[in-house]
Amino acid sequence: MVKPSDRLDKVCTRPPVPPPERTAAKCALCMKPLAKENMVTKDGKSFCCTAAADQFFASDAQYQEYMSRSKGGGFGRFLKKVIVLLVLLALGAAAYFYFFGEGKDGLSVDEMKKKAAEAMDSVKQ
Ligand SMILES: [Zn+2]
Repeated sequence: MVKPSDRLDKVCTRPPVPPPERTAAKCALCMKPLAKENMVTKDGKSFCCTAAADQFFASDAQYQEYMSRSKGGGFGRFLKKVIVLLVLLALGAAAYFYFFGEGKDGLSVDEMKKKAAEAMDSVKQ
C-alpha cells in the first residue's frame, strides 16, 4: 500500500516557496504555496505542475467512481434486507391472524403444519 504522502513526493515538484506577498495560490494536491510563475491552472484549480493536476483529477475521478459504486451497492443490499424483513413480517402477521385471530386453538402439530401449508399457498396466490 502506497501512502498518499509518498505519491505526492513523486508527483509534486518542489518549486521554491515564495514569500507570502508573492504567494498566488496553493497546489490543490500537495497544498504547497505557489508563486504565479510556478503555478499550473486546470479546471479552476491551481497546481505546482501538470503531473500534479493529472494526478489530482485522476484520483478525483477514481474517488467519484468508488463512491458511486459503494453507495449503489450498499443501497441495493439495504433495500433487499428491508424487503425480506417486510415479507417475513407479512407472513408472520398473516399466520398469527390465521391461527389466533378467529379463536382457533387446540390444533395438533399436524393440523398446524397443514394450516401453515394452506396459509403459504394462499399467500403465493
Ligand atoms: Zn503540488
